[in-house]
Amino acid sequence: MKVLKFGGTSVGSAASIRNVKNIISNQQGDKLLVLSAMSGVTNQLVELSELVKNRSSEEISERINRLQTKHFSLIDELITEEVSNKLIKKHISSELKALENDCQLDWNLEIDSKITTTGERLLTSIFSKYLEFESLGNTLLDAREFMHISNLENPDTGLVGELLNDSLKSAVGNEILITQGFVRLNSEKKISTLKRGGSDYTATILGAAIRASEIQIWTDISGLHNNDPRFVEQTHPVSQLSFEEAAELAYFGAKILHPQTISPVIGKNIPVYLKNTFTPEATGTCISAIAERKGLKAISAKDEITAIKIKSNRMLMAHGFLKRIFEVFDTYETSIDMITTSEIAISLTIDNTSNLDLILSELEQYGETSVDSNHSIICVVGEGLIEDRGTSKLFEILQDVPVRMISYGGSNNNISLLVDTRNKIEVLQKLNEKLFVNHLKPV
Ligand code: ADP
Ligand code: ASP
Ligand code: MG
Repeated sequence: MKVLKFGGTSVGSAASIRNVKNIISNQQGDKLLVLSAMSGVTNQLVELSELVKNRSSEEISERINRLQTKHFSLIDELITEEVSNKLIKKHISSELKALENDCQLDWNLEIDSKITTTGERLLTSIFSKYLEFESLGNTLLDAREFMHISNLENPDTGLVGELLNDSLKSAVGNEILITQGFVRLNSEKKISTLKRGGSDYTATILGAAIRASEIQIWTDISGLHNNDPRFVEQTHPVSQLSFEEAAELAYFGAKILHPQTISPVIGKNIPVYLKNTFTPEATGTCISAIAERKGLKAISAKDEITAIKIKSNRMLMAHGFLKRIFEVFDTYETSIDMITTSEIAISLTIDNTSNLDLILSELEQYGETSVDSNHSIICVVGEGLIEDRGTSKLFEILQDVPVRMISYGGSNNNISLLVDTRNKIEVLQKLNEKLFVNHLKPV
């Protein structure tokens, strides 16, 4: 069985949904499809949830009507046969009625997740009916039955596999299974999400759960590019990456993949292919256990980073000092991304600031603390990178922009720089020139 995930733009219009149908039809064997909501819909649902939170009831029904119009016109374009057209519209109306009812309740995190995950349910039911209309038999599975993910960082894919098997008992002989990305049930068995962009993660969790032969992530670009194409011109797709390289790039901001996408498949050695729905013939990127080529591969950037410095004369050679500092972060379940130390100070970065005040008040007992917010980690990635002499060119960046921290040598395949977010685009562009355009000519 293969897992194929299609993102928001791939299912954003009738024309692209027809592309998706062709891509599926051209592939042999059993397939599990993971679909996102139509592009823009999750954003609209996030706004709707905000209205519910602020009790702006007049606007709510107008927003729900807008969603109905969008999905009804998609149905009209895709499913022209009258009976099927009416049936699926009836189903969409009942989903939207349930949404409206949720919007009447007092806002809490569960209501928020119920609202924001509606888009995937709407789209998957339309898509399933459309395939049926095109004579492609399929089974629609409700992800809420098996995406039981208590630990977001370390999902129990064995449990997901068992629950999915139960759901599959009703899937009589169909080659095509369809389910929703993004949604999960948390440790209290309440509806929650895998965070924004989470359908990629759904695909790899399910791929690991069923030990899929491969996972394909179909999006609007032909693979992972060597730099962020939203900010840098002249980027190009990287044809092959190791799991470790891809995991670093995803975690450090390459938006094409949800930060956690790679972790479920590393141990299971399941290849992940990144492909373009709009040019399916393009090679894209293959992510697998080996790095076919050593050296620099790509650069990414992760925003909303906060740097904390703890300065203490007492730290001098004091054993156990770092342990106590790390325990504070552990207590507040806040993970640390970058660390640098000197004799009298330690600097580290976090991306989750929800407990920042509590963390700072505890750290004060160990020394003087200072905080710099609005920073970005620029991550330069490639297997054996630090042995590559050409890479040293990246340090020329220090002449042009202030760099707050550097992490070099933590692993063979990553060098990270912490810069003020205001300088991020300039750094990405300059690194592109220094490392790719004027220097290395990667494949
Ligand atoms: P989907 O809706 O299919 O999940 P996303 O918008 O989440 O698609 O991800 C695809 C987008 O990621 C691309 O259109 C591109 O703008 C952006 N992106 C950012 N960094 C990279 C990168 N290094 N390589 C490719 N795409 C990237
Ligand atoms: N629809 C969700 C989002 O926009 C999940 C996804 O597309 O991956 O975040
Ligand atoms: Mg995405």
